[in-house]
Amino acid sequence: MSILVYVEQFEGKAAPVSWEVLGKARELANQMGGKLAAAVLGSGVEAVAKEAISFGADTVYLVDDPSLAAFRVDPYAATVEALIKAHSPKVVLFPATARGRDLSAVVACDLNAGLAADCSDLTLVNGELAAVRPVFSGNLLTTIRFVGSPAMASVRPRSFPAPAADPARTGEVVRSAAVAPAGGYREEVKGFEKTAAGEVSLTDAKIIVSGGRGVAKDPALGFKLIKELADTLGGAMGASRAAVDAGYIPYKHQVGQTGKTVRPDLYIACGISGAIQHLAGMGSSKIIVAINKDPEAPIFSVANYGIVGDLFEVVPALTAEFKKRLG
Ligand SMILES: Cc1cc2nc3c(=O)[nH]c(=O)nc-3n(C[C@H](O)[C@H](O)[C@H](O)COP(=O)(O)OP(=O)(O)OC[C@H]3O[C@@H](n4cnc5c(N)ncnc54)[C@H](O)[C@@H]3O)c2cc1C
Repeated sequence: MSILVYVEQFEGKAAPVSWEVLGKARELANQMGGKLAAAVLGSGVEAVAKEAISFGADTVYLVDDPSLAAFRVDPYAATVEALIKAHSPKVVLFPATARGRDLSAVVACDLNAGLAADCSDLTLVNGELAAVRPVFSGNLLTTIRFVGSPAMASVRPRSFPAPAADPARTGEVVRSAAVAPAGGYREEVKGFEKTAAGEVSLTDAKIIVSGGRGVAKDPALGFKLIKELADTLGGAMGASRAAVDAGYIPYKHQVGQTGKTVRPDLYIACGISGAIQHLAGMGSSKIIVAINKDPEAPIFSVANYGIVGDLFEVVPALTAEFKKRLG
């Protein structure tokens, strides 16, 4: 076996980034002439294991155990480490979600393995993994090579396209036992808070409409107009840090270096100047549309389309037009 991908799931539903990473890993495994395995941990997650095969895994190590019902880093790390020790993959990949970053760091430390965190691309150089990660707020890309094995990397959501599922693919599901952490179960999960029903997750959204300090003259109205446009397009609502810091909108909407990294097909920036720390989180969006009343705003230098105007007029006009055209 050459590559092992950790499949993140929550309540039996895989995170889309898991399949993005698995799809890329399939490509790399084919180039290496090796096998691709997936690790699925949780409770009542057999369906996720089957899905992993349809997305490209040859083998799935399924660890289905009540002790893994909610993510806790100690038992998850102990179990993933046992799988790595038992099957000696050359490469181990994780989604760079909050949980994936936590888990990959602990596993890498425990195994004394090299980890490239938060990568945006993966390639092979002479058959060995080379991981690309942005540094200095996304201004530079570094290529990380590994000494020793396994080479480990966590991969940012939406770095790779989601592969198409092939339900006819066949593979092997191997059940493995959960491993109790040496230091015991130090965390207790009390419950989960869900976002409002129908809200589109920012990191998964294909369309994002974001607002910045440009809404300052009437923040409540500004974000209401931005949400209406996002809802009309079936997208999610984002924000700059200035808008979050000013208390116009909660932190969970923040895009950028200290917020979420997004890669939608369409990113509409409304009243956002385009500071480097904001671009670090959305610069790889496929199409960027900027609405700003200052024609010299830096956001226009990265935008595919720019509208110079007042967002309080432009945004509702766009919403009305999209409503007409989309029915
Ligand atoms: C360590 C560090 C980390 C950071 N992390 C982040 C991060 O994660 N995300 C982030 O976004 N920032 C981050 N920042 C802050 C960043 O440097 C900028 O301060 C911030 O992005 C500016 O937000 P803004 O574009 O909304 O505000 P401004 O820079 O004030 O821009 C507002 C824009 O709105 C326009 N405008 C005003 N009124 C209107 C109107 N009516 N209609 C249309 N346009 C209008 C103005 O012309 C201007 O271009 C970070 C900074 C540091 C130092």
